[in-house]
Amino acid sequence: MSDKTEHPPVPEAFAALGVRPSILRALAELKFTTPSEIQALLIPRAMAGVDLLGQARTGTGKTAAFSIPILARCQKGLATQAIILVPTRELAVQVEAEVQRLGQYTPIRSLAVYGGQKIAAQVKHLKYHPEILIGTPGRVIDLLDRRIIDFQNIRFVVLDEVDRMLDIGFRDDIRNILARVKGVRRQEQPSEEGAQQGENESPPQDRAHQTIFVSATISEEIERLARKYMREPVEKLIAPGADERPTVESVEQYYFSVQIWDKYRLLKKLLEQENPELAIVFCRTKRGAEKIAKRLHSDGIECREIHGNLAQNKRDRVMKNFRGGKFDVLVATDLASRGIDVADISHIINFDIPEDPEIYVHRVGRTARMGAAGKAFTFVTREQGDELTKVEALINMVIPQAKLEGFEPTPPPADWTDLPPGEAVQAKPVQSRFDRVYSPTGATVSAEQPVTLAPKPLRLGAKIPITRRHKRRR
Ligand code: ADP
Ligand code: MG
Repeated sequence: MSDKTEHPPVPEAFAALGVRPSILRALAELKFTTPSEIQALLIPRAMAGVDLLGQARTGTGKTAAFSIPILARCQKGLATQAIILVPTRELAVQVEAEVQRLGQYTPIRSLAVYGGQKIAAQVKHLKYHPEILIGTPGRVIDLLDRRIIDFQNIRFVVLDEVDRMLDIGFRDDIRNILARVKGVRRQEQPSEEGAQQGENESPPQDRAHQTIFVSATISEEIERLARKYMREPVEKLIAPGADERPTVESVEQYYFSVQIWDKYRLLKKLLEQENPELAIVFCRTKRGAEKIAKRLHSDGIECREIHGNLAQNKRDRVMKNFRGGKFDVLVATDLASRGIDVADISHIINFDIPEDPEIYVHRVGRTARMGAAGKAFTFVTREQGDELTKVEALINMVIPQAKLEGFEPTPPPADWTDLPPGEAVQAKPVQSRFDRVYSPTGATVSAEQPVTLAPKPLRLGAKIPITRRHKRRR
């Protein structure tokens, strides 16, 4: 047990929440010593069988918060007792991996099911009747329609990133899936409903299924929709600070004022100068991501790309290698922005500022996770001042402008055709929208004097410059 010297000590704080020994052992190995606030709130209530809405900032361990009680309460040998729905394939893989790690000393099995992967492969694994399924809505519906899975044994329904799951894009699919879960409940327990209502703390086993929805943001509208699928009394658990402001203030953030034709040059120089451990460059379009990855490659910066034009197995491989630190720069569309947890991402570069400010938060939230340090840079063209202002309004922070030492704007190339008619062909900066900006140290500086990012002198034994890293490795 725990007092054998070869085992790390049992995380007492988790034990105090009622987590069982097989899971405590995994937690100890994973070095989860203290529960995060949302875990402390959610785990005991989920164990008690209550329907829960959980809200906590990105990177605060919501996955473990719902996975631990599910692992603890699933019964071995019954297929599909828990269904965890997530918005992207990448997230399905990631959440499944966390469930797997947390449940490694339990007999409970899990499987990720998502589109773009051969259904036959998943069917093969489904033959082993995994107790927990993690899936994207489309594939789950497909498996239900083909009667490869059913909800006869369902006891837990989780929507991760619930705000996304209930927004327009997924709403019908979610309604479809949750209606089928409900259908099972009516069939199984036609007469017990009323009897159970009176009992306050009915033992969890008596319940047909329990619903847990979590997200970093839950608007009133989403909450109203969510409650339709839940059983009163629903408890809403909010980790302290979750509803204050979006979760990026611990990230050092800057913007660059840059003309479209200079963006790539700025990116390259920024990467060389910052020499990031692990960076994600976000683009708006798949084409854009492809192009940038190609150019970086030919300029000797090792990178990979991830976007919807890639086959799923390729996407999985890219994410796996990125997690493993096999390359340093990932060029991505917003596919990778939600919920994805890769430790030690040091830099987020918004090559294209997102139209929707919420997306900025999701992107920038990929860095500085669980208290680590991180930087985010956003490229803003002259026409995009409004987008930047929207972001600042949302995060309730003024993002200081940065300048890269030695980077000079150039006039548009002779063959440049993207300019609106009559525009002067002069490089000019984004209009400064504020009287003052804040420097990262908290000192107020004038907006006219952007923060200058000077190249850091390479210390002895410092990292290999980014352009030469891959040559070293081979
Ligand atoms: P969220 O879903 O809230 O954005 P995740 O569930 O993805 O956050 O967790 C972020 C990271 O924190 C993951 O790598 C996870 O393994 C780790 N983590 C979760 N809980 C703890 C804990 N109690 N102690 C240490 N690390 C934790
Ligand atoms: Mg999450």
